[in-house]
Amino acid sequence: MSKAVVEAIVNQKGGVGKTTTCENLGIGLAKKGKKVLLVDLDPQASLTVALGKPFPDAMETTVADLMKKVMDDEAILCGEGILKHEEGVDFLPANISLSGLEVSLVNAMSRESVLKQYVDEVKGSYDYILIDCMPSLGMLTVNALAAADKVLIPMQADYLSAKGLEQLLHTINKVRRQINPKLEIDGILLTMADMRTNNAQNMSLLVHEVYGNRIKIFKNEIPRSVRAAETTGLGVSIYEHDPEGKVAAAYRELTKEVLAVEKKRKHQLEELR
Ligand code: ATP
Ligand code: MG
Repeated sequence: MSKAVVEAIVNQKGGVGKTTTCENLGIGLAKKGKKVLLVDLDPQASLTVALGKPFPDAMETTVADLMKKVMDDEAILCGEGILKHEEGVDFLPANISLSGLEVSLVNAMSRESVLKQYVDEVKGSYDYILIDCMPSLGMLTVNALAAADKVLIPMQADYLSAKGLEQLLHTINKVRRQINPKLEIDGILLTMADMRTNNAQNMSLLVHEVYGNRIKIFKNEIPRSVRAAETTGLGVSIYEHDPEGKVAAAYRELTKEVLAVEKKRKHQLEELR
């Protein structure tokens, strides 16, 4: 049975391209033949809307219901709550009930690993599980980090929030020490880069200079384009909305880069055996 690579897409700063990356990397991987599950772990439900469900609060079963079942020690049915998107990915939607669940996590047993228990149940059916996190480092994001093998950090190229990144790295290290020792940082993805401006170019250089020797920075940067911003309410990926555009091209290349990293990792693991 295949065991999915679980990747959390995290940055506590809002509006940096987490959801857009989750959708387009996920669909990119599905187009390459991978079985992909996208998990919306944000009560704002942007990913759920982006995948064609404009009224998440009316949805019957969401990630919050399944996490509640884990907390109550109830069985989860095979495929329960999982929806299919026309572009080949499965997804688990979210809605506002997730913020109520986050509050109730505080008193739950093994509160950091509720999502992990769910993910471990479905892992065998997928190659990749991508978790779209909310812009905070609260209990839901800690649950995502506890469930993940890797973290992908989208970061806006024209806005270097060094303090924010340090805080995020601190949380990742803490989760690694206390809950999930195998958690790796996959890399920083520079998003919404407007490479015509000197500022963005300088920021890109600065990120490489400051973090390049500690953390991998993906070779592919995602450029800024109004076409990408337009897709939000359409329920389709950038590959459908603007297939010839620069953002679609960048996400295609990112998909290849992610697959190449994974291939290399598997190869190294096999050599160690
Ligand atoms: P939040 O923290 O609120 O969850 P986020 O980090 O998930 O935000 P997104 O929702 O992916 O960020 O993107 C924020 C906004 O920027 C959205 O309106 C989206 O359509 C837009 N956007 C994303 N990527 C690009 C891009 N490459 N070019 C232009 N606009 C983009
Ligand atoms: Mg988002």
